Amino acid sequence: MSAPPLVRVRGLSRTYAVGDVRVAALEDVSLDVGEGRFVAVTGASGSGKSTLLNLLGGLDTPTAGTIEVDGVPVSGMDREALARYRRSVAGMIFQSFNLVPARTALENVELPLVFAGVERAERRRRAAALLEQVGLDRRSGHRPAELSGGEQQRVAVARALANGPRLLLADEPTGNLDSATSREIVGLLAGLNRDRGLTVVMVTHEEALVREFAHEVVRLRDGRVAAAEGRP
Ligand code: ADP
Ligand code: MG
Repeated sequence: MSAPPLVRVRGLSRTYAVGDVRVAALEDVSLDVGEGRFVAVTGASGSGKSTLLNLLGGLDTPTAGTIEVDGVPVSGMDREALARYRRSVAGMIFQSFNLVPARTALENVELPLVFAGVERAERRRRAAALLEQVGLDRRSGHRPAELSGGEQQRVAVARALANGPRLLLADEPTGNLDSATSREIVGLLAGLNRDRGLTVVMVTHEEALVREFAHEVVRLRDGRVAAAEGRP
C-alpha cells in the first residue's frame, strides 16, 4: 500500500463577494501532494493560483471543500492550532520577499524562532546554520535593502525553514527576479526537495522555469484544474 499523501485537497472552492458580484476564485479543486514531491501550480494571471496557495497555507478559509495535511483538517483548526500550523508545518515564501526592513538577514531568520519560544543562543545558532544552507552566511549582518532580490529571497527561504516545516509553499517566488536569478532560486528549492525531502508546492505563471524540476505540474484555468501531469 502506498503512503497517504501529505496534502489532500477535496472539492475546494473559494468565492469572493465583491459588491453584488460573486467571484469564484477557486472551484471544486481536488488534488494530492505526496510527501517529498515538488509540485508546480501554473496558470494565467487570475486563474486562482494564489487563492489555492493561501488556502493551503492557512491564510484563508475555503467556501467549500477540505484540506488535510498529514491527515489533519486545516480548515477545522482553531486559531491556536492554525498559528502552530503556519509556524511549523507549512512555510511560505512570496514574490515580494516580505522581510522586515529594519532587521538584518540573521534577525529575519530568527523571528519565527522567537515566536516558537526558542532561546536566544540556540536561535542565533540555528539562524546562522539556515543562512549557510541557502548560501548567505556572508550576508548575515545585511539589512534587506543591502541585499539583491535573489539574496532577499534566499533569506525568506531560510526564514520559512526556521521551524522545520514539512511543506514549503512558494507563490511566484521568482516574480521579481531576472531569469538567471530565477533559475538559482528554483534550483535552491529543488535542492531542498531532493536533499532534504522537503515537499514543495510552487506557484508560477512561467511553466518553462519549473519543467525540469517539478515532479508534477497542475495547470489552473478559471479556478479549476485544467490539466495535471506528472512523473514518478
Ligand atoms: P492568480 O494568483 O492565479 O493570479 P488569484 O488567486 O490571485 O489568481 O485570483 C483569482 C481570482 O480571484 C481573480 O479573478 C481575482 O480577481 C479574484 N480575487 C482574488 N482575491 C480576491 C479578493 N480578496 N477579493 C475579490 N476577488 C479576489
Ligand atoms: Mg497570484
